[in-house]
Amino acid sequence: SLQCGIVGLPNVGKSTLFNCLSNAKAQSANFPFCTIEPNVGVITVPDERLNKLAELVHPEKIVPTTVEIVDIAGLVKGASKGEGLGNKFLANIRETDAILHVLRCFDDDNITHVDGSVDPVRDKAIIDTELQLKDLETIESRYQRIYKQAQTGGDKQAKVMLNVLTAYKEVIEKGENARVVTFDSKEELKAAKELCLLTAKPVLYICNVDESSAVDGNAYVEQVREAVKDEDAEILVVAAKIESEIAELETYDERQMFLQEIGLEESGVNRLIKSAYKLLDLETFLTAGPMEVKAWTYHKGSKAPVCAGVIHSDFEKGFIRAEVIKYEDYIEYGSESAVRDAGKIHIEGKEYIVQDGDIMHFRFNV
Ligand code: GDP
Repeated sequence: SLQCGIVGLPNVGKSTLFNCLSNAKAQSANFPFCTIEPNVGVITVPDERLNKLAELVHPEKIVPTTVEIVDIAGLVKGASKGEGLGNKFLANIRETDAILHVLRCFDDDNITHVDGSVDPVRDKAIIDTELQLKDLETIESRYQRIYKQAQTGGDKQAKVMLNVLTAYKEVIEKGENARVVTFDSKEELKAAKELCLLTAKPVLYICNVDESSAVDGNAYVEQVREAVKDEDAEILVVAAKIESEIAELETYDERQMFLQEIGLEESGVNRLIKSAYKLLDLETFLTAGPMEVKAWTYHKGSKAPVCAGVIHSDFEKGFIRAEVIKYEDYIEYGSESAVRDAGKIHIEGKEYIVQDGDIMHFRFNV
């Protein structure tokens, strides 16, 4: 399953955010280092279409797709040199598909700031520097050997890797993140991916604001916006503390009511998932049958066999064709047989590019 790692300095609101995102409850206290083990939580991805379909299909169960969230605590200045609990956590980040970088954008004299004052742009730079130093280590450890290989053997792969390493080294040494580098050739992209650099991962900056700034943000948020404008990154404004309280409420209606009271139409979780999907170029296809109505996550632009493989690798190997119903058609005609009678089931082959909301039925050889 897809995994996002939450990073940020101590006391910026990571565990609070984690609490309001996941069903698991992480400890949160006004004390740096309170979350010492990386906590893993699971978010079910809200999708209205699942419920609408279930009303027609009456399945035994509804299964939403999920995203895993890992709370990576303990990143402080010096983490890349093993200070605090840094090094271990940097290793955790490497495993994730995307980074949620939480920035403290709220004032509160009762909440200690590890660097003495509230300054999200400085905080971002501290974390970035630690990640960059780790990336430089990764680059250095490859560089010598690859350099020799590229020089002597005329090894094509080594030459590609050397180009990639050099391009990354150049920007990181200037204090920029690896993600600002773009590669054109397939070979370079592959080499870049293999390196798994921390600052090359897609990032979503989460500005944690107080309740009164939940809707419009505040001056801190504007500073962050200005600071990241050249990065290919998104910003999300979340009032984690109040939202974590709202998340504790029993019913959906109660939660909606309280959200509206602070001026929000949608919870931070929903907004975060939408942003993460956009950031990672993800979409959802559906399957519907009497056993279950289920949502599946795939990379935008994937062809039918690859999506079949999301369900089971055998489906991909033995792929014959896909029967596709457009979500709107299913809702309009009310059942699979009615859609069939209307001639609205599309038979698609190996080259079909699956679209968000497609209801898929795969035919395959075993
Ligand atoms: P972490 O160390 O980054 O995981 O930070 P925590 O989530 O443990 O938060 C540290 C403290 O800040 C806790 O006491 C939270 O209740 C508090 N906190 C988190 N978000 C906000 C916020 O938006 N406003 C205020 N006033 N306090 C917050």
